[in-house]
Amino acid sequence: SLSKSAEIIKREKLVTCNNYASMPTVLCRAEGVYLYDVDGNKYYDFLSGFSSVNQGHCHPIIVKALTDQALVLHQTSRAFHSNILAEYAEYVTKLFGYDAMLPMNTGVEAAESSVKIARKWGYKVKKIKANQAKIIFCENNFWGRSIAAVSASTDPTAYDNYGPFVPGFVNIPYDNIERLEAELKDPNVCAFMAEPIQGDAGAIVPSDGYLRKVRELCTRYNVLYIDDEIQAGLGRTGRRLCVDHENVRPDMVVLGKSLGGGVYPVSAVLADRHIMDVIEPGTHGSTFSGNPLASKVAMTAIKVIEDEKLSENAEKMGQIFRKGLSGLDKCVVDLYRGKGLMNAIVLNRNVDALDFCMRLKKYGLLTRPSHGNVLRLAPPLVINEEQIKDSIEIFRKVVDEV
Ligand code: PLP
Repeated sequence: SLSKSAEIIKREKLVTCNNYASMPTVLCRAEGVYLYDVDGNKYYDFLSGFSSVNQGHCHPIIVKALTDQALVLHQTSRAFHSNILAEYAEYVTKLFGYDAMLPMNTGVEAAESSVKIARKWGYKVKKIKANQAKIIFCENNFWGRSIAAVSASTDPTAYDNYGPFVPGFVNIPYDNIERLEAELKDPNVCAFMAEPIQGDAGAIVPSDGYLRKVRELCTRYNVLYIDDEIQAGLGRTGRRLCVDHENVRPDMVVLGKSLGGGVYPVSAVLADRHIMDVIEPGTHGSTFSGNPLASKVAMTAIKVIEDEKLSENAEKMGQIFRKGLSGLDKCVVDLYRGKGLMNAIVLNRNVDALDFCMRLKKYGLLTRPSHGNVLRLAPPLVINEEQIKDSIEIFRKVVDEV
């Protein structure tokens, strides 16, 4: 007879769109860095809901903010004001040092909003001719699944059969300053958008100084620098924002994922007034954007990252983790990379990545392969030293076994 997990997976497949290659694990409970499945197993979570649960699962302070606010006022739409949005926006703009915040719901929506703002800025401020604006992206970027996002993608699994695509998007190699400068010379370019560490691509860390040079060039050519911190931000890489590693201030910062503490979808675009003000009333929005529940949860989720010093912990635990990874057999683990707790390993091509993940699961650690032999390793930022060392032991056991 089937295990409980197998039975539920079979039922789910029959009645859902099969758009994910999920690991065969059915979760029913979680706490902190741990996940529990319906068959009674306990695991370290090494994906953190694609980095949307940096604060750890079922964080009591965030869950309380959610339930308290839900009992009082959860949705107004922005047809009216609520008593929470101003407080949230004041808090988030002050903390990150920008004049204004555009609230949205999911990552792709906020990223796409930044693209809309950039185009409008291009026409209204930079005076680019109608419908001529260009935006530069990097190869292997990932910012979601909308038509605009897949139009910017260089990954056939993301864009195949979804055309025709949005025009005015240009792709250049990541971490290549010469190519960026060549493209920025085109006066129709309004923005450059990039992740400070490419997440979905497998924790690709650019060269030291890249982000600073991006900032300098965008300033020199009067082009907006859009910093997609949806995955790398909010403590994940050992800093509040990943660009803080290089003391860089982008023109727009896009946040999502852990902005909602993993309990509610919340995203945001941060920018100064002279950029944000190209958006006039009635020209952009979303039914749920900036709702009181989202605002309360986001404010609390950020406070938890600050109060519990999760960036600092990510920095420390990341050092210990990569030291552990460096000791793994090079015949199995070709390389490891990352910053803070945004890490990845690349398995030797003779190793079956799914089999490797199934063995990790057997020993109590969950992740899954992405892009062939790349494993993303991103536990909640509340993980402690003992748990990190325990996790490294699990990797060691699996490496010895395969
Ligand atoms: N940007 C980055 C860097 C991401 O990693 C993701 C999601 O993985 C997104 C944008 C899209 O976010 P969402 O899946 O919430 O639309």
